[in-house]
Amino acid sequence: MKRKKKELLTIFREMIRKKTVSFEDMSQADAAEFAAFRALIAERFPYLAEAAEYRELGYNGMLFRVKGRSDRKPSVLMAHYDVVPADQEGWTHDPFGAELSGGRVYGRGTLDTKGTLFSIAAAVDQALSEGWIPKNDLYLSFGGEEETHGGTCGAIAEYLKNENIRPAFVLDEGGAVIPEGLPGLKKKAAMVGIAEKGTANYMLSVRAAGGHAATPPRHTAIGQLARAAVRIEKHPFPARLSEPVKKMFRELAPELPVYERFAFSHIGLFEPGVKLLAPRLGPTFNAMVRSTAALVIFEGRSAFNVLPDKAAMGVNVRILPGETKEGALNYLKKVVADPAVTVDLIDGTDPTPISDTACGEWQLLRRVVKRTWPDAAFGPYMLNGGTDSRFYSEISDHIYKFTPMEMTAAERKTVHGADESISVENLFTCVRFYGRLIREL
Ligand SMILES: [Zn+2]
Repeated sequence: MKRKKKELLTIFREMIRKKTVSFEDMSQADAAEFAAFRALIAERFPYLAEAAEYRELGYNGMLFRVKGRSDRKPSVLMAHYDVVPADQEGWTHDPFGAELSGGRVYGRGTLDTKGTLFSIAAAVDQALSEGWIPKNDLYLSFGGEEETHGGTCGAIAEYLKNENIRPAFVLDEGGAVIPEGLPGLKKKAAMVGIAEKGTANYMLSVRAAGGHAATPPRHTAIGQLARAAVRIEKHPFPARLSEPVKKMFRELAPELPVYERFAFSHIGLFEPGVKLLAPRLGPTFNAMVRSTAALVIFEGRSAFNVLPDKAAMGVNVRILPGETKEGALNYLKKVVADPAVTVDLIDGTDPTPISDTACGEWQLLRRVVKRTWPDAAFGPYMLNGGTDSRFYSEISDHIYKFTPMEMTAAERKTVHGADESISVENLFTCVRFYGRLIREL
């Protein structure tokens, strides 16, 4: 029997009320809230709990396996149930109150990503209640440390790897259906991430003799480091059209009016122009065509009358597919070109491999997206940030990063911001999307 929307909405609101806030130091997190969330899923989705093999992996990961008629082409649907804190100003609703107002549910995690977790569980539970058996094994992989880049999802992927399971299809958060479309594209766009840039942190430091500020040398440690800062900003990483970006232009080309179509489908011809234009087209486009460096930390002495004996600067680099964190380290050293400045790689991840789009899995996803949003263009793109699905890179070539929801620019801003909320309509469209998807996998 089909469950009433009202009942499902109550469950979703219960999920939002659990304060599953993750911290870099997880000893600060409220483990009882995480446990209560896990118990809630088992309780409210009884067919899922009954039919699936369930295990908890890593710090707080949940993995369900719904056995299919075959185990040859397993699929994984992903989400995470930890959320970022909601302590910023501007909330007009209780961030953990799950208040229903004007057709929307307000609360931390409604979009990122308890909304998709709920939709996956609701769709699978509903289908199971109707006697459905998946064609292939279906795994639901729910992490609880995504926001803090913890290892939970890594533990889930490691488990699957050890079990020799190679997913034929993985879907995690990422792009979305963008109602405003893209420049030149006068319709909605469903953008599916097929690769992620790498992220690496570097520390640049200068040591000096110190001493009294009354008799300074020509350059203090800070002055010397500032020169390195200027050089990094003056010499951005070279612009290049990476494979995911070329694919984006090529795949979106047929959706365009005739004139733009040529430019989009022959984007390679325009590569020199693209490189020249990139800095002028704004930060989003610029980030698409090059590794970027952001100077984010600057430390020296905190007294006015003392020369700093050390100055340090933190740089966050987002690395384009095809490049590496060691390559970026060498580039920074080359650009700084100063033996007094030490450049160290602190931590980071390389870009992910690029997922296949010339395959049945990509077509399947396109089909389900087009059935749910018939008037939307469909295309691949590259994510600037990191998601948990990068942990699956080793065991699958078909990892797609797409949140099946319509999200306006204003809504996307509330992710990690104030008044995060989802419309009830959007939420149930998402449930329908997963309901269609699981019957195709
Ligand atoms: Zn997030």
